[in-house]
Amino acid sequence: MKKPFWDVEEDIGFIDTKSKLDNHSYKVWNAGKPETIQHVADILARIRKDLNKLLKYIHTIKDVKNIKFEGKMISWSEHPIAFGIYHCFEIHLPGGDEYSFNYQEMTPNKDGILGLNKPKIIKKMKLDTGHNIVNYEIADKRSIFLTIRPKLSNTNNSNPDILDTYEKILDLALHEITHTVCNDVRWKEDNHKHPYKIYEGLMKRWAKECGVIKIN
Ligand SMILES: [Zn+2]
Repeated sequence: MKKPFWDVEEDIGFIDTKSKLDNHSYKVWNAGKPETIQHVADILARIRKDLNKLLKYIHTIKDVKNIKFEGKMISWSEHPIAFGIYHCFEIHLPGGDEYSFNYQEMTPNKDGILGLNKPKIIKKMKLDTGHNIVNYEIADKRSIFLTIRPKLSNTNNSNPDILDTYEKILDLALHEITHTVCNDVRWKEDNHKHPYKIYEGLMKRWAKECGVIKIN
């Protein structure tokens, strides 16, 4: 079977590079100067640190009633989105392990894909809603791919030593982790419709509250 276009290569062409920040290895596209490759690994480590900080913060506010929903103030754990948030903790920090989740550089591609949240090991589950049993799918594992070098991914390696700003990469990472929260397991033509926007708004708000997004 032919792979769908978004099922990008994740091993060939990459070089495992240990970040100096956390001593963990990251898959970086093998192009550009050695110091650039090192810098990309360090950015991926910084992204991991920031997203883990965000997830831990969300956990600490699970009983804080600060979301308006149907005319009253509730906590996120009482909101219909709670399932997605708990699912995100399980995928990104299973057992509290900060290093179980894979972040890597985006594979250069001609499809204009800047970032990807790639689900793996998709399982079918049944959920009892209290009214009926619904079938749904869930991914047991995921990888997040991020464009870090804009002239590598989309313009045929024209300058592999130019990096995006950290703010831009972080914004993309927040966008991609929100797809875990939404439990998106299949490619959809437009997977940024409702309820994506609700989740995205909350994730960005929480990222500001815990200092991951710096406000000037
Ligand atoms: Zn998206």
